[in-house]
Amino acid sequence: MSYKPLYHKYRPQSFKDIKGQDHIVKTLVSALKNKKISHAYIFAGPRGLGKTSTARIFAKALNCLNSEVEPCNVCEHCEEITKGTFPDVIEIDAASNRGIDQIRELRENIKYAPLKGKKKVYIIDEFHMLTKEAFNALLKTLEEPPSHVVFILATTELDKIPPTILSRCQKFIFRKLSLEETLEVLKEICEKEKIKYEEEALKEIAKLSEGCLRDAESLLEQAILFSDGKITLEKIKSVLSIYTQKDIEELLDLALSGNLESLKEKLDKYEKNGFGAENLVKNLLSFVSEKFTNKDFKKYSEDILTLCFEVFSKAYKELSNHPYPFDLIYFTFVKLSYFNDLVSIKDFLANLKMPSSNLDENIKKNLKKLLPT
Ligand SMILES: [Zn+2]
Repeated sequence: MSYKPLYHKYRPQSFKDIKGQDHIVKTLVSALKNKKISHAYIFAGPRGLGKTSTARIFAKALNCLNSEVEPCNVCEHCEEITKGTFPDVIEIDAASNRGIDQIRELRENIKYAPLKGKKKVYIIDEFHMLTKEAFNALLKTLEEPPSHVVFILATTELDKIPPTILSRCQKFIFRKLSLEETLEVLKEICEKEKIKYEEEALKEIAKLSEGCLRDAESLLEQAILFSDGKITLEKIKSVLSIYTQKDIEELLDLALSGNLESLKEKLDKYEKNGFGAENLVKNLLSFVSEKFTNKDFKKYSEDILTLCFEVFSKAYKELSNHPYPFDLIYFTFVKLSYFNDLVSIKDFLANLKMPSSNLDENIKKNLKKLLPT
């Protein structure tokens, strides 16, 4: 048997297998049950969340020979739709068929009744890529579509679709998966594939995928390839170039204690091993904001965390197109290290009330800098 990537192997074939989009599945299933099918749907949302898979499942449900709701996946029609050979489910990639001629051709073809199935389903991917003329030409069709046609228009950029089109379609917004939902899927796949894992390792993969299921599955695939039967945090750290919470905290500690030499060494190592700069700053930002809201975390004051968030946000904006991203990060840390010497106003005032012999060493140092001698 030929090798299939995980995201392909575990592509949902039934409504019950679609992950994290319950709000959409519920509405589609209820429309099928009540036979209230619209003639046009927009599936919008970030890539890799199953828009096309959901469109195919819906197309199957509309054409299945055994069921009118959850497709059976064994009848001739279902099988052909899975294989992509069913003549009445037509998939068009708007990125490469974006012109008026293609839409004219489509308008010509939709007049004819389905060859085999009950409904002719047009799945247009990257729908926002159509030209203005093509949108206009399609609009006419959407105004008066033949009753045997259903359009499913998938897009990652809803705001690029003209309002005249939007108002004629039923809209579904696919949402990113939560960390827990992604983790659940990853565990399920590991169990099916009989792969042992450390929960922390899968959590890192889930975090890195940022709610995109397809990314999570590809990352898991890489992890499996290098895991020798068990996915551990240590292994995936090196394979996937992942920064752990510990790495991030260490970097901050080094910067805030002024240990710039060790900090530089660490950054150089990351750069040499192909770790991403953007990913590092993202991790720093999420670490800082998480610690800010965590009242049990007392290592750094709120002032310092606020400051960190500001300087890392600024660095993040400057990162794209920067010729030396890791140097940019290094100098951001250098900037932070200066602030470490300064004490917060609150501490300063509190210390002033004490006899001078009890003044914190740091404050004494700074007072000397501030006061005329
Ligand atoms: Zn079927």
